[in-house]
This record gives sequence, structure tokens and C-alpha cells, in this order.
Amino acid sequence: MTGTQERHILGISGGRDSAALAVHMRQTRPDVPLEYFFTDTGKELAEVYSFLDRLEGFLGRPIARINPDRDFDFWLSEYNHFLPSPRTRWCTRQLKLRPLEHWLEPDLAAGVKVHSYVAIRADEPSRDGYQSTHANMSVHFPLREAGIDRAGVIDLLDSAGVGEPEYYQWRTRSGCTFCFFQQKIEWVRLKREHPEAYEDAKSYEKTALEHGSPFTWSQGESLEDMEEPERVAQIERDFEERRARLLARRRVNPLAGERTLTNDDFYGIDEASAGCVVCHK
Ligand code: SF4
Repeated sequence: MTGTQERHILGISGGRDSAALAVHMRQTRPDVPLEYFFTDTGKELAEVYSFLDRLEGFLGRPIARINPDRDFDFWLSEYNHFLPSPRTRWCTRQLKLRPLEHWLEPDLAAGVKVHSYVAIRADEPSRDGYQSTHANMSVHFPLREAGIDRAGVIDLLDSAGVGEPEYYQWRTRSGCTFCFFQQKIEWVRLKREHPEAYEDAKSYEKTALEHGSPFTWSQGESLEDMEEPERVAQIERDFEERRARLLARRRVNPLAGERTLTNDDFYGIDEASAGCVVCHK
């Protein structure tokens, strides 16, 4: 980067919050010379790319695709075929953060001040852990500052004509097809929506198990076991029962129901612990 001592960057994850942040910035701060970027793991859902195209159409600016110099297969073999997991999340580090650091490194080293805009909403639990990784980088949270919550995010995307990524009809998170943050019901649906991606994940898991990996993609069972018809039926039943329980509780105690139930409630996701701002916002 030449001719400027500042950069303003906004990471698009393929999820709704970061897209809404881009829309919000375009509408309220058109003066900020934002650089949009998307770090592509090479294992994203097809729906993500069509969503990025729609978003680019609204923004009128390209979203830079940052590809890692080394792909998932390279790192998997470096990590001795141990699958990444919530505890050993080498995938985010190597496929999302490392390419971003490379993208910014020369400028940060040259003293350029980098402003990073991050999509934390007003209704989210505090993310105290999120902080700048470099002295020349400062982090901003415009959605939170503007009081924009989940409903506000959806409104922003609707009003911009961008809408939501299609995968939200069957899954709650952006990110890799085989992301281990998926709930069991989402694996079942991945197989239905993208059978080839399920097969791909299954073959990674098989190789990992052959190499002694202690992890399967989903806790406690392999994808091969999970696709057995009886198991699929049970997972679907569990999901429906959970959904019905939550809705019934809402009817019995309407006072407890001020907040609208979301898919995350039905899926049993705790937003503070599941997923991360890099992959899933
Ligand atoms: S989306 Fe999931 S699997 Fe992909 S890099 Fe992020 S945490 Fe890892």
C-alpha cells in the first residue's frame, strides 16, 4: 500500500453480521475508504460465494479474496492428520488469521495504522477476548456502537436487497462445510444439501482416524455412524423435541419470552462459546 498512512479493513465471513456491518458502513460512513476482504479456506459452502456476489453488487466495490498460501490438506498433514476441533483450532489460525496477517504485515511493519471493523452486535455477550493483535491496529465495533441487534442486522440486509445467505435455511453458521462447530442436525442437513461435501468430510475423518486422531468432526461419533438411517431419524427427533419444548415453555411463561426465539435457541447454541468472530460473523 502506498500513498497513505492508514488502512480501513472489514472482514466478510460469509455470515450475516459482517455483511450487515458492510451495509451499515456503506450507508452511514461512505467517507471511510474501506477495503473488504474474505479469507477463503477453499472449503466454503457454494452459497457463500453467491452471497458475496450479491453483497459486492450492493457495495459497488470488490471484496478481496485472500487465499491461504497453503491449503487445508497441507496443514492437515502438518498436524499429523489430526482434525481441527474446538480445542485445537489450527484451521482458523492457519487458514483465516495467517493469510490476513500476511496481507497486512508489510504495512503494519512500515508503521501504517490499520483500522479493523468487526461485526459484534449490540445484543451479543461481551467479547472481551477480542482485541487488536498489533500495536498499529485498532479495532472498531460500529454495530454495537449503533445499538444494532440481530433483528437490526436482518433489517439492514433486507433493506439493502442483499438478503441472507441461503444456507441459513438449514444451518446457523457460515464457515467451512465440515466445520466442527456444527450441530448434529446440521450434519444431517449437510448430507442432504451437499452430499459431496459430506463425503469429503467423511474421507478426511477416515484418514484422520487411521492416523490415530482423537477427534471425529462431531463429538462422540463418526460421520459414517451418523448417516445410518436410524441415527438420522433419532437426531431429527431430538431436534424437533427440543424445538417443541422451547416453544411450549414460551407459551406457558410468556413473560420469559420477551426475546424472540432464534434458530440458535433451537439448535442449542450458546453464542458466547460457539463459533468465532473470524469464521462465523
Ligand atoms: S469455519 Fe470452522 S472449520 Fe473452518 S476455519 Fe473456521 S473454525 Fe475451522
